[in-house]
Amino acid sequence: MLDVRGDFPLLERRIDGRPIVYLDSAATSLKPRAVIEAVAGFYRGYTANVHRGVHRLSEEATAEFEAARRAVARFIGAEEAEIVFTRGTTEAINIVRRCYPGLERTATTAGEHHSNFLSWAYGESSSVLPLRPDGGYDLEALDRVLEEGLDLVAVAQVGNALGVIHPLEEIVRRAHAAGALVLADLAQAVPHFPIDVRALDLDFAAFSAHKMLGPGGIGALYGKAELLERMEPWLLGGEMIEEVHLESFSLNAVPHRFEAGTPAIEAAIGWKAAVEYLSELGMERVRAHDRRLVDFGVERLSEIPHLHLAVPGGSERLSASVSFQVEGLEAHGVARMLSNRENVFVRSGFHCAQPLHESLDLRPTVRASFYIYNSEEDVDALARGLESVTRFVRA
Ligand code: PMP
Repeated sequence: MLDVRGDFPLLERRIDGRPIVYLDSAATSLKPRAVIEAVAGFYRGYTANVHRGVHRLSEEATAEFEAARRAVARFIGAEEAEIVFTRGTTEAINIVRRCYPGLERTATTAGEHHSNFLSWAYGESSSVLPLRPDGGYDLEALDRVLEEGLDLVAVAQVGNALGVIHPLEEIVRRAHAAGALVLADLAQAVPHFPIDVRALDLDFAAFSAHKMLGPGGIGALYGKAELLERMEPWLLGGEMIEEVHLESFSLNAVPHRFEAGTPAIEAAIGWKAAVEYLSELGMERVRAHDRRLVDFGVERLSEIPHLHLAVPGGSERLSASVSFQVEGLEAHGVARMLSNRENVFVRSGFHCAQPLHESLDLRPTVRASFYIYNSEEDVDALARGLESVTRFVRA
């Protein structure tokens, strides 16, 4: 198991004199000191705008900002020019929806986060693929829409509501064989797995810094260079242009043409520190750590009476979270009691995936999600808290 708790200052916080157990990393992760210091270092040492100035501070800020792009690109096996900085996963997906020409016949699944679902679900030639009862994608349904002809399929590698890992390689293989592009929502994947977008042969991918130890307000769109070249920007302003004249303007090169306005410079700099931190730990070790916690979580929670796991069976298909319901209790009530009584912080509700709940006929769930700073003791604290919550309610 990794032992990195000391790197996360927030875990030193005590509430009512007791430590806190943070099990909501699928919503956003805590930040290590290295990231906090990188952001503060920019404010303290070289605050300036990027790309425009020729003075020393602007040159330093620009160099660090572009080094962040290189670091993020390397982290997922991409080229620097293939990383567009966005506000996050949501904006990255919306850019593809708005800017890639000719996307009419699209498919997504009922299991997506709203930020992926909304862009692809409602068009005249859009298909929403059903889920299997176990929360997995229905690949035969995918084959059927591919046969009819599809421009793009947009799917998550890891679903955020249930934590299920989907067979992305297989989806890419089938989609490409039928001539369709693939956009992968990697928001819950990049923080937890070694990812190589080129080996996966993804056409587009979207992910956010704040779920992988980085600051809020920044994420990335990965796109194969030749695909990004085909896209016109949707946001106009500084930096996305090469020249502006009274009668016309010319576009800047990819990826800058998609980054109008002053970017989240300090967030990019913090994100670089985050990917360096994760790279130093090694993503294989991160995966092994998450695996241990999710195995232990499923084992411990399965022992609790009146608790039902949302994904039946073992933990093999789960990434780094466990979702469940407690008989006779609302999910928000369980989460509030865990917070108030135990300082155990979990998520509850639809997890921005209401169609998933609708299609599986699933009530809102409680989700405990794990990351590198969690330990088996945290899982135990959750299980003890749930044991006491269920006793308390039945008493
Ligand atoms: N997709 C998935 C699978 C997610 O988990 C999230 C965040 N919960 C998003 C998309 C949206 O990410 P963001 O809010 O950072 O844009």
